[in-house]
Amino acid sequence: MTVVYEKSPAKINLLLDVLGRRDDGYHELETVMTMVDLADRLELAELPEDRVELVSQSPAIPTDERNLAHQAARLMKERFGVSKGVRITLDKRVPVAAGLAGGSGDAAAVLRGLNRMWRLGLKGEELEALGAELGSDVPYCVRGGTVLARGRGEILEDLPPPPPCWVVLARPPVSVSTTDVFARLNLVEITEHPSAERMIDALRQRSFAGVCGALGNVLEHVTLRLHPEIRQIKACMEKMGADGVLMSGSGPTVFGLVAREEKAVRIAGGLRGFCKEVYAVRLLGESPFPRG
Ligand code: ATP
Repeated sequence: MTVVYEKSPAKINLLLDVLGRRDDGYHELETVMTMVDLADRLELAELPEDRVELVSQSPAIPTDERNLAHQAARLMKERFGVSKGVRITLDKRVPVAAGLAGGSGDAAAVLRGLNRMWRLGLKGEELEALGAELGSDVPYCVRGGTVLARGRGEILEDLPPPPPCWVVLARPPVSVSTTDVFARLNLVEITEHPSAERMIDALRQRSFAGVCGALGNVLEHVTLRLHPEIRQIKACMEKMGADGVLMSGSGPTVFGLVAREEKAVRIAGGLRGFCKEVYAVRLLGESPFPRG
């Protein structure tokens, strides 16, 4: 039986700006994403029969067609006429519905894994285009690394990684719907947009202070108003000395960039007093995936 393994690291948005609403209902985005060393693990085992199965230890996610990883496997089978099936065993470690692109990352991992398992020979860009059919964050998750994404998220440009550092992640126990956050976003109210140019300059200059100074996410306007406890977590991380603090994606996870490991561990320890899901992990600025 053929078995392949894939990892699906969590993403964070160092910058997220919404430039406008498009005629097709999507928003025009400008976002700089990178990855952290906290990942789901997927085992893909070939099945002789025409079936997609998904099992996971996590009670927080659906295991049927609603799961994006399941949808990714169906898409690969149908598009390339593969009559064999696959059993996906998903070891879920990335917090769910957290702004960390957990579902998109799993879908991307299935696209990469099945491309190898079924020897489809698809290039990175072809896999990214397939990913765009599944969701806005999937093309980035196929590629990994540090990237500027525009359009709906499907126009990708590689960027230099941030200088090596630690990331403290704290996921407050509130649920946030990405669709709802975008629907509530009133662009007229946003007078100050984060500058992607400034972030890109900081990355090019390999300046950690520059990256911390250029962090920004317009979706904070919506999510922080809905859930003031996120503001408290941000303030707490700042007080404990994180070098840069921001909410990731549509939230609710807050991340802190920290230059030194000891400090990251200390901040994570302090936050655990009032937030259950806290991690101190390394930043993964370079893509861990081979580029096809
Ligand atoms: P993004 O940052 O891309 O908006 P997110 O991190 O906020 O994503 P996910 O973890 O992808 O959110 O979960 C969003 C929803 O998708 C959840 O309600 C979950 O039930 C559903 N979902 C479907 N497939 C998966 C999966 N493989 N892992 C996690 N959630 C999934």
